[in-house]
Amino acid sequence: MGIATVNPATGETLKIFEPLSAKEIDLKIALGSATFQQYRKTSIEQRGQWLYQAADILERDSRKFGELMTLEMGKPIKSAIAEVNKCALVCRYYAENAAAFLQDVPVTTDATSSFIRYQPLGIILAIMPWNFPFWQVLRFAAPALMAGNVGLLKHASNVPQCALAIESIINEAGFPVGAFQTLLVGASQVESIINDDRVKAATLTGSEFAGASLAAAAGKQIKKTVLELGGSDPFIVLDSADIETAATTAVTARMLNNGQSCIAAKRFIVVESVANQFEALLVEKFQALKVGDPMLEDTDIGPLATSSMLLEIAEQVQETVTKGGKILIGGQVISDRPGNFYLPTILTDIPVNSPGYNDEFFGPVALLFRVKDLDEAIELANSTIFGLGASGWTNNRAQQERLIDEIEAGCVFINGMVKSDPRLPFGGIKRSGYGRELSIQGMQEFLNVKTVWIK
Ligand code: NDP
Repeated sequence: MGIATVNPATGETLKIFEPLSAKEIDLKIALGSATFQQYRKTSIEQRGQWLYQAADILERDSRKFGELMTLEMGKPIKSAIAEVNKCALVCRYYAENAAAFLQDVPVTTDATSSFIRYQPLGIILAIMPWNFPFWQVLRFAAPALMAGNVGLLKHASNVPQCALAIESIINEAGFPVGAFQTLLVGASQVESIINDDRVKAATLTGSEFAGASLAAAAGKQIKKTVLELGGSDPFIVLDSADIETAATTAVTARMLNNGQSCIAAKRFIVVESVANQFEALLVEKFQALKVGDPMLEDTDIGPLATSSMLLEIAEQVQETVTKGGKILIGGQVISDRPGNFYLPTILTDIPVNSPGYNDEFFGPVALLFRVKDLDEAIELANSTIFGLGASGWTNNRAQQERLIDEIEAGCVFINGMVKSDPRLPFGGIKRSGYGRELSIQGMQEFLNVKTVWIK
């Protein structure tokens, strides 16, 4: 299904879009390039005013935008609206802080004066996924626009209306036309865009395969990329933890966005001494989740975003069970209704050679592991190709320190779930990608760090 809105709760195709032609893409790149020459000269204060305005528009129409997301990719409406409001937060954060982040940094050398000046690069291509259709885009766009760059968005093919809505928010906010444009294009058209000399760098959030394809194409052109790819984050529960709070948070951390988040807790690694208690609580809390129409306020779990995502998670569970894994609850597609619904599921006794041990599970499935002690927990947590985030639960200071020091990930949260925050850098290591989004580091990724030396 090319570029289209398909309601994942019903399977109904609501709108189909024609991909842009090569000529149309060229015109948009030309507009972006011409706009950049003027836009880079605008003051930070002016850009900030536009971005504050974007924040106001997001908040003003948060329900409308939330409904659009729910319609196109199925996240529960409450979290869709919360996502829009978080986008307003990231706009305000960069509007407020960009001047400080971008100011010259003096450095004492043999010169009379030497310093670092941060300058924009030009057109940045953003290739974004469907799971947080607004948040992923705004967390790129806010720092990029404040830095004086301009953006081209290639959004996932199943959220075209979200992509168009974001472009119109930025235009309505007052940014010059061409400062941020949506390209309705398929994945196969990306390489020719990154090959274009007028496009200076790219960022991608999505699968390893997509990230590697983009990075290979960009590498040939000596263009920088930032990649935010998959994760199989561990959620480690040790004996001194508050088990009740850990179990409650575990459910939120696993089920956020119908289980389709790169930083969702996916592997629950629990020490034997508290494993029975944690497991019982997790089962009870999973059973209490309300699965259904994502447009209803009291729905906890909606459908998976696409029928292929549903198929994939069902196959991963099936193969894990065939290899010896055990289903504690769930483990099935919900087949008595249309749409891509899967039961909240907990798997345990997961064999080393199974998908449950090795792969990312992008859906409402928790993978539960029992370990002897902290050493074993850290070893298991690190035995993955991914390194995005990790959550550790312990009230023992020495154990906290070991988790912080020894877990291979871009972030470690102690006694809390992994979440993104505009004030903190976000990104991974290993096959979860490279580079950082958010905070000052996120803004610096797409800047020329110019050294200035004056005698
Ligand atoms: P994809 O990686 O295929 O999609 C993400 C974005 O990349 C989309 O805009 C997609 O466009 C684009 N894309 C896909 N292939 C290429 C390519 N070769 N070159 C350039 N751009 C490309 O994710 P899926 O939707 O297929 O999800 C599959 C898996 O990806 C999930 O199971 C999960 O592991 C991971 N994922 C991770 C996310 C995260 O937040 N880190 C988010 C989404 C997925 P188009 O839609 O047109 O194909």
